[in-house]
This record gives sequence, C-alpha cells and structure tokens, in this order.
Amino acid sequence: MKQLCIHTITTKPWRLEESLDNYCRQEVGGISVWQDAVQSIGTVEAGKLIKEYPIKVVSYVRGGFFPHSSREYRQKAVDHNKKMLDEAVDVDAPMLVLVCGAEPSVNLGESRKQIQAGIEAILPHAQSVGVKLAIEPLHPMYADTRSAINTLKQANDMAAAINNDFVGVALDVYHVWWDDTLEQEIRRCGALNKLFAFHICDWKVPTSDMLLDRGLMGEGCIDLKTIKHWVKQAGFNGFHEVEIFSNIHWAKDQHQFLAEIIAAYKDYTALEANINSKTTVYKAQTTLT
Ligand code: ZN
Repeated sequence: MKQLCIHTITTKPWRLEESLDNYCRQEVGGISVWQDAVQSIGTVEAGKLIKEYPIKVVSYVRGGFFPHSSREYRQKAVDHNKKMLDEAVDVDAPMLVLVCGAEPSVNLGESRKQIQAGIEAILPHAQSVGVKLAIEPLHPMYADTRSAINTLKQANDMAAAINNDFVGVALDVYHVWWDDTLEQEIRRCGALNKLFAFHICDWKVPTSDMLLDRGLMGEGCIDLKTIKHWVKQAGFNGFHEVEIFSNIHWAKDQHQFLAEIIAAYKDYTALEANINSKTTVYKAQTTLT
C-alpha cells in the first residue's frame, strides 16, 4: 500500500504515536499530519518521532484562512501561515495544504483577491524553506466561513495566475465530485503541473452533518472510479490520501476503523474505470427520510 496515505484527523482519537504505530503495522506508505495531532508534543518532537517510522509525510494540514475585513487580521493570518510553514519543515512535510478561508462580511470576489494576496505574501517564505502550497477548493456549502475557493476551476485559475512552481492544488473528491467541469479541470490542472495532492473519501446519502459525516470510499455516491481515472490520466502518480472527518467512525474502536479503511482502500484500488458505465460504485442502502 505504497500509495496509501492517511490523514491523522481520520483517526482523530489516536495520538500521533498511535497513528504512526498502527499505520506502519499495516504498511501504509504516507501520513498527512494535522496541526492538532502534534500540538501536545510540539512539532520538533513530532518530527523526531516521525523519523523513527518507515512512512513518508505527505503534507501538513492546514494553513490558509486569509480573508478578513481587517487589514490587521489579514497580516496576522500571513504571519500565522509563515509559522505553519516552519512547522511543516519540523515535521518533514514537503507541502502545506491551504483551506483558503472566507469571511461573511467580505464578498466572495474580494475574498478571492485577499486569498491570492495572502498566498503571494507567504510564497517567498515557502520557497525559502522548501515547502509547497496546495490550494484546496472546498464545497460551496463552506463558502460562508471556510473557503471562497469552491471549484477546481477557481483553484486552477488562482494557481495559474500566481504562476509559481511552489503553488498548486489539492483535489479532494468530497468537495468537487458534483462539478460538471471536473474532468476538463482535472486535465487542465495536470497540464499546468499543478495537481499536488489527491484526497479521497465518500459522500454519504443522506449526509447527517455537513462537516463531520464523511464516508469511507464505497460508502457513498461519489463516482470514485471515474475521478481516479481522470486523475491518473492527468499524470498524477502521488499518494491517495484518506481524509475522513466522521463522528460515527471516530466513535468506533480505531483499530477496527483502520481495518475498514484498509479494506475500502483495497476495493478502491481495484476499481477500474469503465467510462461508458452509467452507474457508480454506490453500495450503501439509501434511506431518504
Ligand atoms: Zn481534503
């Protein structure tokens, strides 16, 4: 499972050391480290700990949150992101994922300008420490407070406008699966050499919580086999990162959950796209109420 990466948030009840122990026991190839997972021991100690394990750090999660009506706040966000880049270096992460931010008092167009300005302000620091920046488009239901970048097109446009090798895109199926321009924008992202990361999970039907009810691959209605095919066609050969926030999964014994992740990942890797197929791999029982 060389190309499998798991985000520490996916097994949130585990401390970093438990995640490392258990992921490595299953020969998981990569780990994306969330800031909350390293807070208790600090990033320097976390970095030393991670080096003891045969696992690659894929990214540090998450910077961003640039827009605000106050210039002072925006500067604070820039400073905070520079600190996040230093922390990424401590944990040996080659990339910082950006949840770009949104502020209800700032309109979306202005927010996007502020996001671009924020990324450009931290870019020299990112280059100096050798950590890339990945713009992650978020589903439009989060356009109020989490991100004004809501489509892959918007992320591609911004990465293209900034036009620097250190700025690319993190594609998360949960946020973009509904988009009818997805295929062409994945192709464009690949052609721009901007496809830095690929996050996988599933969209449950029904979804009980818009933030904390993500499903395992195969547990929802996302056409993973087709999206995986497009990403591969776009030249992506990196990690497939399982990123799941779920009160239901977190409430389980995490060893059992990890076994379910591994099984779901194996099924997912076995999926081969038949692009003429009209059906997805949706397996769960639909119980609409
Ligand atoms: Zn993601």
